Amino acid sequence: MRFGVLDGRAVVIKGDRAAAVSGDRTAGIGGDRAAGSARPSQGPLSGDPAVLLADWPRLRDWAAGLPDEAYDIPVDPAALGAPVPHPRQVFAVALNYPPHAAEAGYTPPEEPLVFTKFPTCITGPETTVALPPGKVDWEVELVAVIGRETYRVSEDRAWQSVAGLTVGQDLSERVSQLRGKPAQFSLGKSFPGFGPIGPVLVTPDEFDDPDDLEITGLLNGEVVQHDRTGSMIFPVPELIARLSAVLPLLPGDLVFTGTPAGVGNRMNPPRYLTAADELVSRVEGIGEIRQRFTAPDDDR
Ligand code: ZN
Repeated sequence: MRFGVLDGRAVVIKGDRAAAVSGDRTAGIGGDRAAGSARPSQGPLSGDPAVLLADWPRLRDWAAGLPDEAYDIPVDPAALGAPVPHPRQVFAVALNYPPHAAEAGYTPPEEPLVFTKFPTCITGPETTVALPPGKVDWEVELVAVIGRETYRVSEDRAWQSVAGLTVGQDLSERVSQLRGKPAQFSLGKSFPGFGPIGPVLVTPDEFDDPDDLEITGLLNGEVVQHDRTGSMIFPVPELIARLSAVLPLLPGDLVFTGTPAGVGNRMNPPRYLTAADELVSRVEGIGEIRQRFTAPDDDR
């Protein structure tokens, strides 16, 4: 299933068409279940993405039974919003690809290095980002979205906690990220617009192998980052097991899983985003997100 938010409404998407998940069209869904089902009627599905993420198996059942003619809304990519507009927790992982750890001057970590992107930075897939003062860099990432409350899950069961995968950009202002000893990552990665995600949320069963997807970052059409998610030091299930060993993960939580090599501040000479740039972030089987940039206010 491919899930998205189109013009503010929750939808499921097939090809270039969408079916709305809300209101009357779902009336009765969940009520007339097959004989033997112990599950009581829970009324119509909500159109609220946050509520749907907490009711994910029922949404998947509903979508699986949709006839083709239910997909009656053309999808305008520019009208797609963040598939999870208001996550409660956003986890992000540093140095999770060996070549990126090497370019950053570190040996591969023995435990995941975790920080947050504060949730107000989360936006939809096609945006224009106002560059804050400083040096803004790119990090294409696979983002795992949690689909059920998860506490102390084992690695071999962790995929069952994942609602789906989406594409993210961990935009990073390097001056504030790396200032201070020890450095603090989270503020420099949380400026407005610094967490675009999308274009859709794709359930794990849609992939031949959700642990090994091609991931690509393009700056003005030039490939600057390229790897496979199978290169991760800590794959998605291990990240979920390790995070949930400490605290409960909640439906709709995001896990930015780290970036491959090829970020701007490790180029020679270093390169940072400017108002002229267009950044495209792509993951196989999901799609791509696109960011443009405007210059910082001169008077700040
Ligand atoms: Zn990152």
